[in-house]
Amino acid sequence: MSVLPWGLLPDSAEVGADGQLLVGGCDLAALAEEFGTPLFVYDEAQLRARCREAVAAFGDGVAYATKAFLCRAMARLVHEEGMHLDVASGGELHVALLAGVPAERLVLHGNNKSDDELIRAREVGVGRLVVDSFDELDRLDRLHAADGRVPKVLLRITPGVEAHTHEFVMTGQDDSKFGFGLKVGDAAAAVARARDMAGVELVGIHAHIGSQVFVAGFFEQAVQALAPFVNECALPELSVGGGIGVAYIEGESAPSITEWGDVVRGSCEEAGITARVSAEPGRSIAAAAGITLYRVGTVKDVPGIRTFVACDGGFIDNPRPALYGSGYETFAPRAVTADRTETVRLVGKHCESGDVLVAEAKVPPGVAVGDLIATPVTGAYGRSMGSNYNLLHRPAVVFVAGGRARLVMRRETDDDLLATDVG
Ligand SMILES: *Cc1c(COP(=O)(O)O)cnc(C)c1O
Repeated sequence: MSVLPWGLLPDSAEVGADGQLLVGGCDLAALAEEFGTPLFVYDEAQLRARCREAVAAFGDGVAYATKAFLCRAMARLVHEEGMHLDVASGGELHVALLAGVPAERLVLHGNNKSDDELIRAREVGVGRLVVDSFDELDRLDRLHAADGRVPKVLLRITPGVEAHTHEFVMTGQDDSKFGFGLKVGDAAAAVARARDMAGVELVGIHAHIGSQVFVAGFFEQAVQALAPFVNECALPELSVGGGIGVAYIEGESAPSITEWGDVVRGSCEEAGITARVSAEPGRSIAAAAGITLYRVGTVKDVPGIRTFVACDGGFIDNPRPALYGSGYETFAPRAVTADRTETVRLVGKHCESGDVLVAEAKVPPGVAVGDLIATPVTGAYGRSMGSNYNLLHRPAVVFVAGGRARLVMRRETDDDLLATDVG
């Protein structure tokens, strides 16, 4: 038997009278009819619950990493539930501000912030700036000379910890483009420099060891590596960044946000860290609340090789398989508890053989043209990493709760594709 592991579905998932999947009380097939496909469907209550869990685990100051998934509705939701928002560009800053999130609840990240990004962030008064390089300190000093503003900053430190995750999302090792290296002494030099500068108010230390980290113990290692330095600096704040993983496929398991918080706070206590400890979860807030719905357009059986099931989206809705070789599960929303006896390759409609969504996709028998097929745990780094390659339209996004669906991002149109084309 190969039934979709129920735990990969959103919290509100339930089986309808005909064996079909409901999320937030909404029938997925009806959502596909109403809003078209591909479609991102988020369980709104789950998003809210994860935000509350993060606030309970870390307290005030914990920030949602908006790069995982951002639109104005998401920014408002996160803010309503008491989280701060971590933004990593002028664009993310803009959307969060337009959503009505107060600037002092925002944290600006980036390893190469432009003057424009820094000027804007300082003008609106973001709560924290996370400084990533000596050049950025120089820049902040220069800007201060011009306008006298003094932002509160954290310094991003690279603790020299190799969290086991994909190389592209590992960020705590010494050989990293991010932060000030602890071992080489850059961290200490940056603290001395920042303390000496008029253009910043140094309030804390930040570290982010990577993303999709399954073992909370790596955070313990990071805390242990940072502790002597953090204690010596005696600054009021420490952020351990984001990165706790989520289960994407059968057989995977990940610590909850609560368990992660316990490990982080426990190891900080043990190491004698008295600074306020916070974190920046992204994936663990958004990933499992989201499902992507696709319509099957072509089923191609290549004898002796495999069956290709082509859907109406592709690697622009979910670049993770192409980027990192990430695995996903598949299911048919009409028969969510059915035994998935067939193995096919779920592909998109882009002009590349690398346009694979699920290489070995398990599906129930009889998947045919016109069917819906869905991939769970696609709420993070899908819509937000998407592109317009082949000039496909980026999908719509709906939030579902209490039997109602709310469109929060509409599907793109041909006119949207021409919005920046000045002829
Ligand atoms: C990406 C990122 C996060 C969020 O990571 P997740 O793995 O989504 O939790 C948090 N902080 C920083 C600095 C990041 O770059």
